[in-house]
Amino acid sequence: MKINKISVGNGAEAGYTLRDAVNPLLPYDGFNACHYTNDSSCHVKHCREELCATLNVADGHLIIPRQTHSSNVMVIDSPLTESELPEGVDALVTAKRGMTLCVNTADCVPVVLNDPESGVVGICHAGWRGVVNGVVENTVEAMRTIGADTTQMHAAMGPCICCECFEVGTEVAEKFAHIPGTVMESNLWPKPHVDLATAIAHILSSKLNLDPDNITMPPECTMHSWQSLFSARRMGLNSGRVLTYIRLAK
Ligand SMILES: [Zn+2]
Repeated sequence: MKINKISVGNGAEAGYTLRDAVNPLLPYDGFNACHYTNDSSCHVKHCREELCATLNVADGHLIIPRQTHSSNVMVIDSPLTESELPEGVDALVTAKRGMTLCVNTADCVPVVLNDPESGVVGICHAGWRGVVNGVVENTVEAMRTIGADTTQMHAAMGPCICCECFEVGTEVAEKFAHIPGTVMESNLWPKPHVDLATAIAHILSSKLNLDPDNITMPPECTMHSWQSLFSARRMGLNSGRVLTYIRLAK
């Protein structure tokens, strides 16, 4: 399997999976560890085993939440089985070594966070609903409760939909109007577009006090690169997802 590393400060390891599909037109072809978008449980299980072997993850230490575009965060301090993870968790934080925190996305933004001084990491799934409802703020706040400090925190975004690709209705654009530089309009576009990554960077720096130099923007667009990643807009909701992970370095 293929993983692209994400750099997010010392003391943490992060990355995201590539599909590596034989036929990208098939919605689940390639690596998919997401268990709730109608892929076969057998394929998902196989992919997770491959991921655990590649990253050397111990049993119960691969934490993959059942996301629902909520803004709920869970603190992970011990290994968990699938059934012990409640539905409706879109962000995870930990200060425990060995826990591999994951989110699944296909156009929404995966955000990984690391405070190298305190040894606290976090991850969230931030689509437009999550951003509007404060999932990024909630994740950073949960990290604070277990010892992190935002002034020394690093953040990086994984692959997500770019502004050019992210057309929205005016009712969604209005929710972003208060965040500078996030709503784009053009004579070439029938509807407004939203720059989710810029919105998240703004929240991290202006609202949560992260140093802008410690914020890394997304490496690529899921919709432009749907053949090597996954894009729900391009392929439909019944398709695979990109897995993004973070953990404290061994
Ligand atoms: Zn794009």
